[in-house]
Amino acid sequence: MSVLPLSHSFIFRGSELMVPSCCENRRVFEGTPVDAARAAFNPADLLYFEVPLIDKSDVIPCFSLNKNVSAPAGWRCISARVLAAEGFVDDGSGVDAGLAAGLLSIVFRACHIAQWVSDSVFCGSCGGKNNFSSSEFARVCTVCGRIEYPRVSPAIIVRISNDNDEILLAHDRKFSGNVYSLIAGFYEAGECLEDTVEREVFEEVGLRVRDVRFISSQSWPFPNSLMVGFSAKYAGGFICCDGVEIEDAGWFNRGNLPQIPGHGSIARRLIEEWRRPPAPASGLLSATR
Ligand SMILES: [Zn+2]
Repeated sequence: MSVLPLSHSFIFRGSELMVPSCCENRRVFEGTPVDAARAAFNPADLLYFEVPLIDKSDVIPCFSLNKNVSAPAGWRCISARVLAAEGFVDDGSGVDAGLAAGLLSIVFRACHIAQWVSDSVFCGSCGGKNNFSSSEFARVCTVCGRIEYPRVSPAIIVRISNDNDEILLAHDRKFSGNVYSLIAGFYEAGECLEDTVEREVFEEVGLRVRDVRFISSQSWPFPNSLMVGFSAKYAGGFICCDGVEIEDAGWFNRGNLPQIPGHGSIARRLIEEWRRPPAPASGLLSATR
């Protein structure tokens, strides 16, 4: 079964999806009729492309809309990030649930590719026009032949715990409201990801960490990140916020958590997994009866 009917598409403007105003958020994933998109927007502002699924079993029809185009009457935009947060509901297990994770990953893939498509119209080397390659998912310069693949920017996010059963949470000046989250930062060329964890933690809050362990990862197409989640143990130092990105940071236990990031993010998932450790396996319960 196709992800979308052939007659339907996702219309992206940056990381937002353009949909008819009458389309409820929970139905955005069903796509928008291609005919409606072509009728509503100037053809010069709409670029059609198809995103192959990773397993190549299907393609997702998409449009990339010029970023300067406003929503016309009868249309609205919604951020893919908001859809992710709304699509997940906490089922009490401590793990994000609700919207099928597979469906969200498809939307995130399309969102990531849509932004790359709109940013790679011209060759970054000679300025020539790029066309889609006929042999692989890439764009090829029509002048110099340079091949460009979708850009992915790795970033780490780390849950640091101490011997008092607390985790470190920090408020970044970019965060809305009074949200506190885990330390995160971009990978630098030449590092291994464990180096990135140690460097980012020291740069942002002045602490040393040990026992850096990979936990899980998440595609985060805002605009093109791969978030790689780790845990680490506090190894020394006093909290000293960099004052550039991090305005405040502190240790929190399960009973005094501040406002934390919304559902749908790996930050939320890593915090929830710590807050509510997995229930004992049923086999253990039955063995004690
Ligand atoms: Zn070129």
